[in-house]
Amino acid sequence: MLTIENLSAEIDGKTILNGLTLSVGAGEVHAIMGPNGSGKSTLSYVLAGRAGYEVTGGSVTFMGKDLLAMAPHERAAAGVFLGLQYPVEIPGVSNLLFLRTALNAQRSSRGEAEATGAEFMKAAKVAAADMNLDFEMMKRSVNQGFSGGEKKRNEMIQMALLAPKLAILDETDSGLDIDALRVVSDGINRMRSPDRATLLITHYQRLLDHVQPDRVHVLMGGRIVRSGGPELALQLEAEGYAGIAAEAGLSN
Ligand code: ADP
Ligand code: MG
Ligand code: MG
Repeated sequence: MLTIENLSAEIDGKTILNGLTLSVGAGEVHAIMGPNGSGKSTLSYVLAGRAGYEVTGGSVTFMGKDLLAMAPHERAAAGVFLGLQYPVEIPGVSNLLFLRTALNAQRSSRGEAEATGAEFMKAAKVAAADMNLDFEMMKRSVNQGFSGGEKKRNEMIQMALLAPKLAILDETDSGLDIDALRVVSDGINRMRSPDRATLLITHYQRLLDHVQPDRVHVLMGGRIVRSGGPELALQLEAEGYAGIAAEAGLSN
């Protein structure tokens, strides 16, 4: 479903991704782990098409198409979703309006009918309840004054409504208390589907106790230096990154 080959990218002339290769099949959940500053968020931004990130080499194929040739809104319409590490506040735009606009933009670009007001409200209520978020928060400005955990749960509500083909979740687990971690993990597990691929970017093994990944990859020095099963995350938790860095010829 997603094939990244030899991808290199820079920001402000600084190389961040340097020959990254990774494939994710339909129905699979892959965890991306790596030390701070290793380029995990950069990878998510490059896949989503954020401005300022210059691709200097390699290719990304998503559902048979050249993802890098698509504009950000085309990627979203094709089903790419990015749950941000630091969700953005949008003062003056209600969460409900934002979600409805996003959903209908996606539907129109696919030639589908827009959701009626009633359909949308029903889906929004279910999504909010699933994430244990008070529906009153759906009427407030997007993320404004939300706690860290509420912002992360709000990202998951967006994901549930948009039902992406490729879900990229950037440290959705950071800043969550144990109860919220459970709610968010359940949400990710509910979204597992044979026609969806998920990239779970995380610092910590604890999310992976709840969401069992098919594969775990270590991103260091701008590329994937090690891949394995869930046991790799446990090994990292126990040993840190130093050993893998040394093997890959990198200073950690
Ligand atoms: P991670 O998510 O793995 O912690 P990031 O992708 O956020 O890492 O950052 C990777 C590297 O890119 C870091 O060294 C960071 O300082 C650098 N970086 C990120 N954004 C910018 C920017 N706008 N200008 C210059 N360097 C940046
Ligand atoms: Mg970081
Ligand atoms: Mg990051």
